[in-house]
Amino acid sequence: MIQILRSSLLGSAGFVHGFGTRKTIPELIPEALYTLRQVHGQKIIVLKNPLPARKSHFTEGDAIMTFLPNVFIGIRTADCLPVLMADPVSGAVAAVHCGWRSLAAELAGKAVRTFASFAETDPQYILAALGPSIGQCCYEVGEDVREALMKIPDCGLTTEHRNGRIYASLKDAAAFQLKSEGLTGENVDILEYCTSCRSDLLYSWRGEKTEERMVSFIGSNKS
Ligand SMILES: [Zn+2]
Repeated sequence: MIQILRSSLLGSAGFVHGFGTRKTIPELIPEALYTLRQVHGQKIIVLKNPLPARKSHFTEGDAIMTFLPNVFIGIRTADCLPVLMADPVSGAVAAVHCGWRSLAAELAGKAVRTFASFAETDPQYILAALGPSIGQCCYEVGEDVREALMKIPDCGLTTEHRNGRIYASLKDAAAFQLKSEGLTGENVDILEYCTSCRSDLLYSWRGEKTEERMVSFIGSNKS
C-alpha cells in the first residue's frame, strides 16, 4: 500500500523528502519540521537559523527554504500544488505552496530566483518535483479566475473550456514558471496525481470539503 509519494529525481540526488497522502502515518513525517501559516500569498521565508524543532506553523508565508542540515521544511495541501526544490551542490532545499492566487503572483518563479540567490547556484542545476494536486481534469474555475488570469499571461496559468465549463492547470503553470527561470525539463519531475480523481489515496478539499491536509517535506542532503 502506498503511504507516501516520492520523486525519483530528488531521491536519487540524496534528498530525504516525501509527498504525504491520506495514508501517511505520523511516523513518516520528520520531527524537526518547519511549516508555514499559508495564506495564498507570495511571501518567501528563508530559514537561516535553527529554531526549536516543532511540527506547528512558525510564521506566515507560502514558500520556505533553508540549507540547515538535519532540518525539514514542509507545506500542507489538499488540492493546491506542493513544489519541492533542491540544489544538489549546496544541499539547499525549498518547499512552495502553489494555489492559483500564488501562481498568478508568479510565486513559483520568484521562489526559483530567491532560491538560486541564497543557495548561490544557477537555476539549471536546481531540481524540482511537483506533487499531487487537483488536475486540469477536475480543477474547474469561475469566469472571475479566467479573467484575472488573462490579465497576467506571463504566469503560465492557462485555462481550457470543456462542456461550457472552465478548467485550469496548476501543474502546467508551475512547470512553466520553473522553466522560464532556467530549470531544465529533465530537472522538473511531475507526479501526475490528481487529488480529486484519487480520493482513495489523497485528500481533496474540493471533493470532500475536508479540513485534513497532506504534508510534503524535504531536508538538505548535507548533514
Ligand atoms: Zn482529476
